[in-house]
Amino acid sequence: MFPLETPITAIPRYGKLFAKRLLQLKIATIRDLLLYFPFRYEDFSHVVPIAKLHGEDVVTIRGTIRAIQNRRSPRKHLIITEALVSDTSGSIRVIWFRQPFLTRVIPPHTEVWLSGKVSDDGYGLHLTNPVYEKVEKESLHTARLVPIYSLTGTITQKQLRVLIKLALPSATLLTDALPLAVRKEYKLIDIADAVQTLHFPDTVLHLHRSRHRMAFAEFFAFHLRILSTRSQRAKEHAPVIHFHEKVTKDFVQSLPFQLTQDQRKGAWEIIRDLQEPMPTRRLLNGDVGSGKTVIAAIAGLNVIRSGYRVLFMVPTEILAEQHARTFEKIFAGHNIATVLLTASHKVNAKALASAQCIIGTHALLHTKKPLTNIGLVVIDEQHRFGVAQRTDLLKENAKGTVPHFVSMTATPIPRTLAQMLFGDFSISFLRTMPRDRKPIATHLVTREKREAAYEFLRKEIAKGRQVFVVCPLIDPSDTLGVRAATDVYEHLRKKVFSEYTVGLLHGRVAVKEREKTMRAFLDNTIHVLVATSVIEVGIDIPNATVMMIEGAERFGLAQLHQLRGRVGRGGEQSYCFLFTESVDPDAMRRLMTVVRSRDGFALAEADLQTRGPGELFGTTQSGYIDFRFAAWNDLALWKETKEAATSYYSENPLTLDTSPFPALS
Ligand code: ADP
Ligand code: MG
Repeated sequence: MFPLETPITAIPRYGKLFAKRLLQLKIATIRDLLLYFPFRYEDFSHVVPIAKLHGEDVVTIRGTIRAIQNRRSPRKHLIITEALVSDTSGSIRVIWFRQPFLTRVIPPHTEVWLSGKVSDDGYGLHLTNPVYEKVEKESLHTARLVPIYSLTGTITQKQLRVLIKLALPSATLLTDALPLAVRKEYKLIDIADAVQTLHFPDTVLHLHRSRHRMAFAEFFAFHLRILSTRSQRAKEHAPVIHFHEKVTKDFVQSLPFQLTQDQRKGAWEIIRDLQEPMPTRRLLNGDVGSGKTVIAAIAGLNVIRSGYRVLFMVPTEILAEQHARTFEKIFAGHNIATVLLTASHKVNAKALASAQCIIGTHALLHTKKPLTNIGLVVIDEQHRFGVAQRTDLLKENAKGTVPHFVSMTATPIPRTLAQMLFGDFSISFLRTMPRDRKPIATHLVTREKREAAYEFLRKEIAKGRQVFVVCPLIDPSDTLGVRAATDVYEHLRKKVFSEYTVGLLHGRVAVKEREKTMRAFLDNTIHVLVATSVIEVGIDIPNATVMMIEGAERFGLAQLHQLRGRVGRGGEQSYCFLFTESVDPDAMRRLMTVVRSRDGFALAEADLQTRGPGELFGTTQSGYIDFRFAAWNDLALWKETKEAATSYYSENPLTLDTSPFPALS
């Protein structure tokens, strides 16, 4: 048995030969080999007597080679190996292409397993290119559930199977991330058994049990990690923020609207957190327009009245400016010093030192002197920031304390997924929307209605309104047949809206230029803005009343909903047009959900079910959800493992390994 850290090169006979090729799969040691799991299985367990074969079946036969020989194909360049194989019930012809060595490997009289598809070419039944294996003690490649690994480079399935088979006994050396007591209570098999079975399952049931065990361990480890970070955090100190009841009430009274039920609840949850000495970690999870800003303001007010400062961070300069204006308005009459700090909007040291509410972009992270006395950090649209930056910011201590932290996102995230993405955050949901919001009239526009839609847009622009046009791609692509931003821009500018100014915005436009275009749109010197989905999340252009989306079927439902949220910010009736050339009924059905539903959470949920979390958040966010076996939406397992971890942790409060894959270390 090889120790887990044995380098591949040290495996007798095979090591030298395969070490380099395995490195292409990032496999360097025995442990790596063991943890390189198949992504699917071929079911060759179905062994059939030759006489019982039918065309088109995927089968395994066990027989003896009667004759085998090579010949050249009529076109000369292809070597064909033909064999006759028989068992006690009958015989069958077998053909392989480009494997002339077979006459040596499985000469006449060899007993073999052959797995593959039976077909009938008019000359009778035969097997074409079956996987072959000599009948020995245990088969690896045939006559069983055969593991299929994802391969790149030059190693073959058979070679990898043989190597993994060699490594398999070492599975008993793996540390089991699941404590024995937990395995017993939840009737889970141990890690060695599971790893061995995942590679070479004896039965489907055993395979299921192995997968279940692995999934359990992943969630379990996740929950333990959260429990452990939380208890670490409990040892840190945050500024204690008092609830200034009168100030808060007066402030809420001074607002031009009544808070929604969920806003009250969210604000209260934060205020309650802030009173604790443990640093708050809370996610405000609410749809576009659900009114998150005012909640941040209420929290900020209490922080400031307790003698600390608030840092409000957003992804872009324009958003920062917008928020600075909002806060100045909101805090007007409350005597709060607000400053805006971005790369192009510098603040002098004195103003910065006396500011109580600091709003800005990344520039906030790079001030010459670290910002001090920060009681609360709020990040808006935080999925635009990397996870690393998030934690960096929190190191910014105030008098040896760690600031409270509230993150706001307008991508409605279902609870379980939010917990996975945000680790140990508590979550406030804003599901109710402010009542006086006019619904955005949403329409599906098929090819034949395109001209009529353009006509409608011209009328809107004539009334002084503005239009967003969002495209799924920057450049035209022959294969996808989708309208691209650059094309649409030229077409609209020259043909459709020639009397108006059309702007173009996409990810390859330099950041400075992007901001300039955005500003021109904000000033209504650009009437139609053609863009890809890079257009600002959260940006407020009250005069824009139409969101037109090209190739709408190519977007996720939640994303369409987000884009729709860019309009309807002023008092005017707003519209969202979903253009599609698709005739696929499924695509149409999906688009109709967006037409009918205004519930961002429901749309996100529908998206998740069909497209998975990666689509909703891109890859940067997926740090927490790199589960290999557990399905993010397996709610029952999530709950069960949470209970298991909580009860285990209460008896074994260790500081745990926080490696991303502790289940398998
Ligand atoms: P988001 O959650 O998308 O960041 P905002 O905080 O920008 O939403 O709020 C959107 C708009 O709704 C703002 O103009 C805000 O003043 C307004 N608003 C917030 N709460 C309410 C409310 N309870 N009733 C009416 N309007 C509200
Ligand atoms: Mg917002």
